Amino acid sequence: MKIICIGRNYVDHIEELNNERPLEPVVFLKPDTAILPKKTPFTIPAFTNEVHHELEIIVKISKVGKYIDKKFAHKYYDEIGLGIDFTARDIQNNLKENGLPWEKSKAFDGSAVIGDFVPINCFNSLENIKFELTNNQRIVQQGNSNRMIWSIDELIEHVSKYFTLKKGDIIFTGTPKGVAKVNPNDVLEGFLNDKKLLRLHIR
Ligand code: MG
Repeated sequence: MKIICIGRNYVDHIEELNNERPLEPVVFLKPDTAILPKKTPFTIPAFTNEVHHELEIIVKISKVGKYIDKKFAHKYYDEIGLGIDFTARDIQNNLKENGLPWEKSKAFDGSAVIGDFVPINCFNSLENIKFELTNNQRIVQQGNSNRMIWSIDELIEHVSKYFTLKKGDIIFTGTPKGVAKVNPNDVLEGFLNDKKLLRLHIR
């Protein structure tokens, strides 16, 4: 399976990092080795001094597809959930300055946290879903899917032009503002419409 990640999909996060608003979705991949095993703490890697949490709505692809029109994109997933796109921001800033690919900062082992999934028929609308991250019980990120620049279905249309989507692939749909450094002993908890879908210790 593969993990397809979207960058810069929320205006408030673009502004906090002083990035430019993209004309089309920013896309990068993480390998399956990036997935943090369930119930495992996240250990901050030795090569970075600044790992940021990025809480994101994630989508699990349920069947194979290519060149999927956004009108039909809803047929390609039945579950959404929450994930964390851990980012070594110091490494990423250096790579960005030098015009280099982001993988070392985004795709390292443990950088993809995948929480529990919820069937999409539990939601009235996928375009009004609240989500929230707490760190040691303090709210650090709050978002709503209604603030996405590109909706889930539009993202599926876009990424499936380039990559065949297969059952089990996961799309990270971008983070809202509030990204910040994690430290040893932090406990992160993620909520989707107030339902807790992930809990994670940092080491
Ligand atoms: Mg991200």
